[in-house]
Amino acid sequence: MSTVVSDKKVDSVQVKRYDLHSHTRFSDGKLSPEQLVDRATNFQLDVLAITDHDTTNALDIAKRYIQECGSKLELVNGIEFSTSWQNFEIHIVGLNIEPENNALKSLIISQQAARESRAIAMSEKLAKCGFDNMLEQAKLLAGEGSITRAHFAQVLLNQGAVTKMQSAFDKFIGKGKRAFVRPTWCDIATAVSAIHQAGGVAVIAHPMRYDMTAKWLRRLIIDFKNAGGDAMEIVLPQMNPEQRRLMLSYCLEYELYASLGSDFHYPSKWSDLGRNLILPESCKPVWQLWQS
Ligand code: AMP
Ligand code: MN
Ligand code: MN
Ligand code: MN
Repeated sequence: MSTVVSDKKVDSVQVKRYDLHSHTRFSDGKLSPEQLVDRATNFQLDVLAITDHDTTNALDIAKRYIQECGSKLELVNGIEFSTSWQNFEIHIVGLNIEPENNALKSLIISQQAARESRAIAMSEKLAKCGFDNMLEQAKLLAGEGSITRAHFAQVLLNQGAVTKMQSAFDKFIGKGKRAFVRPTWCDIATAVSAIHQAGGVAVIAHPMRYDMTAKWLRRLIIDFKNAGGDAMEIVLPQMNPEQRRLMLSYCLEYELYASLGSDFHYPSKWSDLGRNLILPESCKPVWQLWQS
């Protein structure tokens, strides 16, 4: 029996696996940068962006660790800025940023100040709801990372005041609830500008999560485009097929690049790092903006 061996060269198209939205302990994620890198490597991701809330402090640690363990993982330097737009809190992800850029650093400082003053005011409101020493406890959980509402929710959960994180938002710290404090984030144009000055690309994070009508979402996208914004996340694990179709159609209509990510905070049954993340063929992938 003879074996036919073809000597025709076949181009090997490498399909990389990307996750461009994830968190570490430096904001409200539960893994250290090293643990996140290990998880990404074990899950055979090729490209990971770490996008902590209003901080870049995990990036250097992750980069060094990748070098030390000889992992082939490509790290994309990222951040997730909270912004105020109309009456909404809109998250803008910056990808491929230069963390040492001065405009970026100064925005991080003012966002951290906004986090600190909101945390103090939230703690005062929570005291009126009967919960003492919330600031100290939330800060203990946050450690050297950005202090977020997720930390306050965790304290309430640990104390048995609520039975799940979501309930802390629904009962106390979510928009319009008793201990809600209106944040003083920067506006979208400021976030986009700082990201651009740092050489990065600006991405609307999880557009389906803002509880907006289609009319408002279109207004958001138009304002974001007018501010110079580049891309929008259109593939996240929590999206249903209808949402995927809709976000893709906006992405094409408004000529935005497309991004994808798990918004990973910690391992859970419903979502994990890099799971089910594939962009539809008709869109322009956001990584073309830094690979070209
Ligand atoms: P912050 O940026 O301090 O307002 O905190 C927001 C973070 O809390 C988000 O990034 C989520 O990780 C988490 N979060 C926000 N809303 C909810 C919610 N309804 N249920 C659970 N976690 C939430
Ligand atoms: Mn978060
Ligand atoms: Mn977010
Ligand atoms: Mn996020």
